[in-house]
Amino acid sequence: MKSHVQVAVIGGGVVGCSVLYHLTKLGCRDVALLERKELTAGSSWHAAGGFHALNSDPGISRLQAYTIKLYREIEAISGQNVGLHFTGGLSVAATRERWDFLRADWARHRVLGLKTELLSPAEVAKICPIMDTSEVLGAVFDPVEGHLDPSGATHAFAKAARLAGAEIYRNSRVIELKPTGRGSWMVVTEEGSLEAEHVVNAAGLWAREVGRMAGVELPLIPMEHHYLITEDIPEIVAAERELPLVLDLDAEIYLRQERKGVLLGVYEKEATPWSLNGTPWEFGPAELLAPQLDRLTDALAKGFHRFPSLNRAGLRRIVNGPFTFSPDGNPLVGPVPGLKNYWSACGVMAGFAQGGGVGLALAQWITAGEPDGDIYAMDLARFGPYATKTYAVARGREFYAKRFQIAYPNEYWPAGRPTKTSALYETLRAKNAVFGVSYGLEIPLYLAPAGQPAVEIPSLRRSNAFGQVAAECAVARNAVGVLDAASFSKYEISGPGAERALDRLLAGRLPALNRIRLTPMLAESGRLMGDLTTLRLGVDHFLVTGSGYLQTWHLRWFSSHLTGPGVTIRNVTDDLGGLAIFGPRSRDLLARVTNSDVSNAALPFMSVREMDVGFAPAIVARLSVTGELGYEIYVPLLELRTVYDNLEAAGRDLGLRDIGMYALNSLRLEKGFGIWTREFSRDYTAAMSGLSRFVAYDKGEFIGRRAALEERDRTPARRLVTLEVDALDADAAGYEPIWVGEELAGFVTSAGYGHTVQKSLAMGYVRSDLARGGTAVEITILGDRRAARVLDVPPVDPSGSRMRQ
Ligand SMILES: Cc1cc2nc3c(=O)[nH]c(=O)nc-3n(C[C@H](O)[C@H](O)[C@H](O)COP(=O)(O)OP(=O)(O)OC[C@H]3O[C@@H](n4cnc5c(N)ncnc54)[C@H](O)[C@@H]3O)c2cc1C
Repeated sequence: MKSHVQVAVIGGGVVGCSVLYHLTKLGCRDVALLERKELTAGSSWHAAGGFHALNSDPGISRLQAYTIKLYREIEAISGQNVGLHFTGGLSVAATRERWDFLRADWARHRVLGLKTELLSPAEVAKICPIMDTSEVLGAVFDPVEGHLDPSGATHAFAKAARLAGAEIYRNSRVIELKPTGRGSWMVVTEEGSLEAEHVVNAAGLWAREVGRMAGVELPLIPMEHHYLITEDIPEIVAAERELPLVLDLDAEIYLRQERKGVLLGVYEKEATPWSLNGTPWEFGPAELLAPQLDRLTDALAKGFHRFPSLNRAGLRRIVNGPFTFSPDGNPLVGPVPGLKNYWSACGVMAGFAQGGGVGLALAQWITAGEPDGDIYAMDLARFGPYATKTYAVARGREFYAKRFQIAYPNEYWPAGRPTKTSALYETLRAKNAVFGVSYGLEIPLYLAPAGQPAVEIPSLRRSNAFGQVAAECAVARNAVGVLDAASFSKYEISGPGAERALDRLLAGRLPALNRIRLTPMLAESGRLMGDLTTLRLGVDHFLVTGSGYLQTWHLRWFSSHLTGPGVTIRNVTDDLGGLAIFGPRSRDLLARVTNSDVSNAALPFMSVREMDVGFAPAIVARLSVTGELGYEIYVPLLELRTVYDNLEAAGRDLGLRDIGMYALNSLRLEKGFGIWTREFSRDYTAAMSGLSRFVAYDKGEFIGRRAALEERDRTPARRLVTLEVDALDADAAGYEPIWVGEELAGFVTSAGYGHTVQKSLAMGYVRSDLARGGTAVEITILGDRRAARVLDVPPVDPSGSRMRQ
């Protein structure tokens, strides 16, 4: 065994081998993989080997498509047969709702470059003759889906890596990880030790154990999973071509051909977690769990109904094996917050569809400092300390059971809730608020009418929330609304080095004393890393605010980029309660609860003051996410409730009303204000997103300046625009294609109904030459094209006078 390597990858499943291969591919050849037993000795050996590119998250779809393309490459490099069967894959709909969902998905595939087709039931029957299509409405066909030999694929990655210089040590279980104090790790195995500058946890079923070796608890849970393999089926024996891979979403099964029979897998409703507290080291290498066929009866009945010949087929084999799930089913990838040079490549639920993409993203991150593009959907920093072991079990179970359910854009699943609640949670609940969840926190979406159930019905179209949200928007535009802003993150940056460090971190100019600035944050590549708001409370004292769900992500970035002597960073998100008030009467309301002067002269737009609000010491920031006169009020959490009560009492005759996040979304769309994850993400740059107007190119050095300067003098390929859409009863939801004739001209980032202007609105990126007011385009919504126009100014108050009044 070598005594020192640049990167040690722990785990020789498909994911670890893919990470190893990609490191070598990107030029990092001083790497070793440590495997407890034999390669594939975790979940990988018993996988069904299916792969598909389709995923409800576009970022994950992209990585899956990359993974599929990779198989020919590793086969050619390694000479190892991967057993590829490009049979094509069907995602089948048997309900009207599912068919709408699939047609919407199919439209999004145009944006992702996936060459899928919509098939009629007759076309489905032709390529899958064993399916009873009498209840089928149609299917999406993806020609590059199929299945492979899991062991062959894992070994192909490993051989290709070895040919490029990587070492693989089998029968070398890692038993301890010791930080050396120099940023590297001493990796202690049963066969000896080596020092590694970076450690990658790709330990699959044992990822929790390898996490604990470094003191972290990864939110993962293995779940039991069954598939059956049948004896030969006469229709298949007689068929001329191999069956496609089938995801029968309404029957909740997947199926593919295995020899002249089928392999049928089920995600049963009674999901069963395995080994709750840890995976035994003695499990495997080729061990399975006892089959529990009685648990599968309902799921199998649905499958046998759709594939009647299965009723007559004998069973050749039943497999029950465990594999890991994160709380939302997506992988946990990236640098582990709080640890130096410790990386996660865990929680990969579909290793043969995602392993290649995970390996690429992680290898880019290690070698270049950042992945190429937005991979937030699989970044482990999307979770925070609320994601405990118990939470992971509850959510993993739920995800498994709902694996094939429609992912409605307005649905928040119930497991693991409530976890975190604001001080106003019970108050808002008593007022009939409907809650969603963000970073474990219950957030008010809207207030249901009194006396009616506080339930939003999941829908791909406008939901029963519509009328209430319209009323909330009217209040915000005409009177004054109040929003619980507990979901905004707040960081206190202070100390003699704070100004210098923040100035380097942020691409914008820092605000003067008592002022506020919107300040984009860039990566070295010039890609967006954040859209933060900076409030200057003192010469060396700043409050930086952003999206609450990005706390782990922000803090991980701050820990390596907001550095220097004399800088103190404190996450005060959960210490400060927040209320946003907005609307033309919001100043009148504020004036009634404070003795300070809040006139326009004393507290102008984009300024901040510390003052008493009620009895509470408050930070009052005058800014606006809605385009109206507005304020954010931050007070110690324990005083939030009384400040809210003060506002409520003072605001009665001003028309004050509670507002939820849905109204906020509608109001910000009417102003053309982008938000993180949608309009702003690591996929975009300052110039593309329009955030370049907040970049101070001439202020001196800051992270990403060189890339930003290079980009400044070029026209970006795409630009962010706001559009009005001739929609019917459904607004766009995100990632729908934007067409000019038959040409794909761009895609939607977010959309909704503008209740003030009574129009369906969307924001999106279009080719730069089309980013002019009046350009006529079409947007595919739920499979049908709708006329739309690019707007040259936001539909509400284009001059911005209302928020400055
Ligand atoms: C029944 C079943 C069917 C499936 N079907 C499919 C499918 O059709 N398509 C698909 O994409 N996915 C499928 N999967 C999921 C797939 O198997 C997993 O996504 C994939 O195997 C995960 O790979 P991994 O490398 O992350 O983990 P693993 O395969 O678990 O590999 C982890 C490796 O790390 C090693 N290790 C652990 N701890 C240590 C240590 N301390 N020191 C050294 N080595 C260590 C282990 O021995 C093991 O070899 C299926 C899973 C099951 C159970």
